[in-house]
Amino acid sequence: MNVRKRRLLILTAGAAILVWGMIEVSKSDVWGSISLSQPPASASASASPPNASDEPSPSPDPAESADPAPDDTATPPADKPAATAKPGKTPKPTPVETQAPAAGEDSLAAILAANAPDKTIKQNKDGLAVVTNTSSMYVLVNKKRNLPSTYKPADLVVPDVAFSFSGDSPKKQLQRPAARALEKLFAGASDDGITLKAVSGYRSYATQKAIFDRNAELKGAEVANKTSAHPGQSEHQTGLAMDVSSASANYELEEKFAKTKEGKWLASHCAEYGFIIRFLKGKEDITGYSYEPWHIRYVGVEMAKEIMKQHITLEEYLEENAPGTKA
Ligand SMILES: [Zn+2]
Repeated sequence: MNVRKRRLLILTAGAAILVWGMIEVSKSDVWGSISLSQPPASASASASPPNASDEPSPSPDPAESADPAPDDTATPPADKPAATAKPGKTPKPTPVETQAPAAGEDSLAAILAANAPDKTIKQNKDGLAVVTNTSSMYVLVNKKRNLPSTYKPADLVVPDVAFSFSGDSPKKQLQRPAARALEKLFAGASDDGITLKAVSGYRSYATQKAIFDRNAELKGAEVANKTSAHPGQSEHQTGLAMDVSSASANYELEEKFAKTKEGKWLASHCAEYGFIIRFLKGKEDITGYSYEPWHIRYVGVEMAKEIMKQHITLEEYLEENAPGTKA
């Protein structure tokens, strides 16, 4: 009995499945015809190029299919360029604006990078260490760093200040920014009741050579080397240095100038005008020169203030603040 019932059940189930299957097949036919009718619709759409609106889509299609990767991102890129193009354009001014306030810092950093002592020196064909940033306001010249014999500053002018001598002379000249700064310095001194006079500014390589040779002849090379610079090693050739003195020091370039009220005023105020006392007392081993309270060098106000405040030399400042150097 149980077996018969099961067979019956299986038979009816089988028959039911058969019937359902036939119905499904007929359905799929219907769907098939629907799905068949649909492709022709889209096919006819793409196959009808006459429509102007269709032309753009066929043309990008080949282009997209040409590059497999772009095909995937075919739609996104179309959006992305547009999306990024707009923000891309707007952020661009923003960084510029945010950089603008920091321009001062950046420019000093850039100055220090461009004038780093180890980056601004090379050996010439005679094996002489020659500076490469000759025309920089921050050029470092000393007994280890020569100016080329041919170097002459481009923009030399005579500052409108009192000199210790009369008549024209090349040594009245300074580079224009230094000359303008010297005029302000002398005016500032005058306001404080201090009378300074300029003694010696620009000196050509040839003039320095004549001075050194004469000193060497008179005092011997060793003494000459301590008291005067070898040609090419004088800061006066840069047109950025001026020797300054006063009546109280008989306009002499002597250490006694430091003790005069003019010498004291100069040391206290020169940085406000962009000058430093280049050869400090106790720094002879760094600068290579004796203390010269009369010799001022233009480096611009920002750097001058820092150097004078720290009571350091230009050598120390440039080396300690060069990028990648631990101060
Ligand atoms: Zn000097």
